[in-house]
Amino acid sequence: MERLWIELTERCNLFCKHCFVRRNLNDKTVQSQEMSTGFFCQVLTDAAELGCKWVEFTGGEVFVRNDFDKIYTHAHEVGLSTSVTSNMTLLTDRIIELWDKYPPSDLKTSIYGWDEESYETVVCKRGTFKLFYTNMRKLVERGFHFKALVPAHPLLVKNSSKIQEFARELGAELPVQYGWELMLHLRRDVEASNCIRGLRLSPVEAARLRMNFPKLVLNDLRLIKQGLNSSSLCDDRMFHCVGGSKLLALNAYGFLQPCRPIHHPDLLYDLKQGSLDHALLDHFPRICDLRINYHSACEKCTHCILRPACSSCPATSWIENGSLDEPTQYYCDVIHQEAYWLGILPTHMKGWETEGSFANANEH
Ligand code: SF4
Ligand code: SF4
Repeated sequence: MERLWIELTERCNLFCKHCFVRRNLNDKTVQSQEMSTGFFCQVLTDAAELGCKWVEFTGGEVFVRNDFDKIYTHAHEVGLSTSVTSNMTLLTDRIIELWDKYPPSDLKTSIYGWDEESYETVVCKRGTFKLFYTNMRKLVERGFHFKALVPAHPLLVKNSSKIQEFARELGAELPVQYGWELMLHLRRDVEASNCIRGLRLSPVEAARLRMNFPKLVLNDLRLIKQGLNSSSLCDDRMFHCVGGSKLLALNAYGFLQPCRPIHHPDLLYDLKQGSLDHALLDHFPRICDLRINYHSACEKCTHCILRPACSSCPATSWIENGSLDEPTQYYCDVIHQEAYWLGILPTHMKGWETEGSFANANEH
């Protein structure tokens, strides 16, 4: 394992309707189930001893935990590089001083609007734009660089030039990256997921947004080509990624997961009952070796030339379908639209119907 994500809490002080994680800041039941400072520090010590190089702190909102500074300091004391994702509205001078001493390698924040009205419409909480703006100015004045993430919220996509201009004014690394999709709620909360569905771009709009990022499109082409050349079609492994091997995620309640979005009960490892060492040597190798259960739906994926670039994976299948190996229609539609526009597939054809005639993909 090279990289560990730690979701310190699912609670957040904001109320974004597009959010795939959020639990209420004042939910005492959720708070009482979160792991202690000592637990997270011990995991960091063990991770560093086992060769992990990088820890990424995320939430919810990491600063709703008043022990963030202790856990963060410990990560640096055991030699880990750190990455922090936060909405920055709760950033304090004390944290900035800590970052002066132990700078994070990577700071990420989301831009939810370009002025008070747009920002507070998206986060559903009054009085927060001023906090965000003031704290970001402080960070930049102290010489910190940050990456700005923008969710594919329709208001923010429609006003992308205002967002880019605002990001420039804030001092973000440009161009800001849009997430091209809104994930449904990771805990499969039906009400929250329906709300997110209502905000989602259509597959055609999402594909259009992806096409605005040449790096993303070139990477898709590279992956599809690699897949064709390596005859990885018909590969029936469930996991085709670094999840569960080079990367693990730890949730706020002490469970290790192959990656952050996947809460499927069969894949979790309860770190309160075991050890990181055992999880790495025994549990996750078995997860990485899982094969898909053959049924007609997943057979499409195993024969599909778009699979290497497709976002349908065990995590998205779990979130959208409640199983680990069903194609996710939304992602399937998005990557097909992109493939049609790029000329990889003729518009009457699906990625699993090519029967070896995929000359166009190799021409790019
Ligand atoms: S700030 Fe982030 S974690 Fe908080 S509600 Fe918004 S999207 Fe969710
Ligand atoms: S494009 Fe569709 S069929 Fe192909 S891998 Fe993705 S979900 Fe499966």
